[in-house]
Amino acid sequence: MNAYDNAMRQLEKASQLMNLDKDVLAKLSSPERIVMASLPVKMDDGSLKIFQAYRVQYNSARGPYKGGIRFHPQVDLDEVKALGFWMTIKCSVVGIPMGGGKGGVIVDPKALSQGELERLSRAWIGAFRAVIGPEKDVPAPDVYTTPQIMAWMADEFSKLEGKPAIGVVTGKPLEYGGSLGRGTSTAMGGFYVLSEAIKEKGLEAKKTKVAIQGFGNAGATMAHILYEAGYKIVALADSKSIVYNDKGINIDEAENYKKEKGSLAGLEGTKEISIKEFFALDVDVIIPAALENQITKDNANDIKAKIVLELANGPSTPEADEIMFNKGIMLVPDVLANAGGVTVSYFEWLQNISNNYWSEEEVDAELKERMIPSFVEILKMSKEYKTDLRTAAFILSLRRIEAAAKVRG
Ligand code: NAD
Repeated sequence: MNAYDNAMRQLEKASQLMNLDKDVLAKLSSPERIVMASLPVKMDDGSLKIFQAYRVQYNSARGPYKGGIRFHPQVDLDEVKALGFWMTIKCSVVGIPMGGGKGGVIVDPKALSQGELERLSRAWIGAFRAVIGPEKDVPAPDVYTTPQIMAWMADEFSKLEGKPAIGVVTGKPLEYGGSLGRGTSTAMGGFYVLSEAIKEKGLEAKKTKVAIQGFGNAGATMAHILYEAGYKIVALADSKSIVYNDKGINIDEAENYKKEKGSLAGLEGTKEISIKEFFALDVDVIIPAALENQITKDNANDIKAKIVLELANGPSTPEADEIMFNKGIMLVPDVLANAGGVTVSYFEWLQNISNNYWSEEEVDAELKERMIPSFVEILKMSKEYKTDLRTAAFILSLRRIEAAAKVRG
């Protein structure tokens, strides 16, 4: 299951249904530019280590490239290409005038000291400086990259440019050009979309049972927001454990427990279940918020939930999409469900380049203003084209990219 093959199959399906211009399809079938670099980093013991790094600039028909940088041992070029392609689609889905890109480094950041991590982050900027910048390509955090890493990157870029240029990356700390609301934006955007989706399915927040896979930035924040809104979270999964309590899990307690023990395993009042049981749970909503390729042809048939909300990027394969569509499950796709993150990243960039900062209420109101109408439009298109929400989101997005590409000639 190669993420890029899956992404290209999604493109093919939508482009056939909407009859996408063949030149635009050809352009979207490969990245505009791939830059690779070997990053030399001086380790604390005095040795030199080389890390393989990438930046994929997928498509810029609608504006500067935008997309995160992933630090993970399993990063590979096809994964970075897939993520760059999805960023292109995602920015256009929510009407952001930017293109798509993604970066990565093959590294286990947990094995590095803070000093080594800082030198690696600065080396990334040194290697890619010529192709990035506030008007060219604007990276952001992704898995295992943090606001601190973005601060080092913005600082390094500004030093090399000889002037402040903090709009080069988003997801920075508040003290250094970050936006209010960025930390919770992915989950908040997903929450707005889910609120509409449950209405469509005739559900009520307080009677809705939810299972969430992934308890990091996206998953834990989502659990917190849903818990506060009265949803019943009955299952949670992290990389070490999957815990379940049919009566509902107290998310404040789960967060404290995870902070203390480093994992959810053994959380009081819960029992451990398998990954197979997790996807087969008798719940209303499943939220994958961890990794790619979690819902496949092997477990999609087990799903009893009425809604699957993809906070992770690429958690479902094309075969699983088809099975879920035939079962009447509403799959809210990643390119919409987690687009709150890039939306507030765009707001951060706007604030940086205008040097004018917004209140949290303004950020939240603008976010809501983009997420809910996007969902409503995609739902309408899915009915019109008699297709699933992912394909409808792709059609909406591809129409905008096609229009920009055509007018540019
Ligand atoms: P994170 O590093 O903060 O958290 C990842 C979580 O997944 C951790 O809780 C980890 O324990 C869990 N996990 C890892 N392997 C697992 C497994 N095998 N089973 C269950 N859980 C597992 O990362 P994040 O920022 O929360 O990103 C998660 C997903 O959301 C990724 O696909 C990312 O691309 C996507 N996403 C995140 C944002 C954002 O703003 N954070 C925005 C858009 C999309």
